[in-house]
Amino acid sequence: MAKRDVIIAGNWKMYKTIPEAENFVERLAPAINDIPIEVYLAVPYTALFSVAQKAEGSKITVGAQNMNDASEGAFTGEIASKMLTDAGAKFVILGHSERRQLFGETNEFINRKVKTALESSLVPILCVGETLDERNAGQTDEVVRQQLTECLDGVTPENIDSLIVAYEPVWAIGTGENATPEDVQEEHSFVRKVLEDLLGKKVADKTVLQYGGSVKPGNAKILMDQPDIDGLLIGGASLSTETFAEVLENVSTSKLNI
Ligand code: PEP
Repeated sequence: MAKRDVIIAGNWKMYKTIPEAENFVERLAPAINDIPIEVYLAVPYTALFSVAQKAEGSKITVGAQNMNDASEGAFTGEIASKMLTDAGAKFVILGHSERRQLFGETNEFINRKVKTALESSLVPILCVGETLDERNAGQTDEVVRQQLTECLDGVTPENIDSLIVAYEPVWAIGTGENATPEDVQEEHSFVRKVLEDLLGKKVADKTVLQYGGSVKPGNAKILMDQPDIDGLLIGGASLSTETFAEVLENVSTSKLNI
């Protein structure tokens, strides 16, 4: 099996002021120094600069939760990739289901953002996943294949330096409902197969696949014990330093890291 980095990402959504964000990082950074895991934090735009500075020299990598595909222009309220990198962001979440569902983002728009992120040396965390209706209709694979195909259109093995794909079944996000580790493994193995069809085996083998959807300290390890689950994208449980540190601690004892 290919050796891939273990990357656990927190997505703070629309939570935390600048002092709250700084305080979180000041407390988390020393607690995770010895853990063999990469920790990503997707913070609000307003906190990016100060949190990136506070995180310097620690295991924490700071990024954003969204961006526009244009390099600049008359797009009131939007943010460009160079503003993110300027503020210290190293990655960006793209296509989160909340962006798709609440703000009408399409695969085509997300595709443009993925290409902009890659051109800007921002690692995209591309989110895919089915709704409950799609799952019940047996369409999970079809939906995920279409999202990957359309969101990665025009991306080639040559222009892809680093990519993370987060499989996040929409019905499991923020609901307390979990996909079983076996179900996630099956879907991740499907995602890797689709990536191989689109971008070749080398890229598919090295792409970090995260699972997201109501991850908690109690289920993090059994998820990470699956061979194709290389990381987690965590919303609610990333908001408290204690809970997030507990997830990281539990993951660090998973078989991927020993
Ligand atoms: C998310 O926001 O991507 C997410 C998975 O949220 P939660 O962990 O709260 O379900």
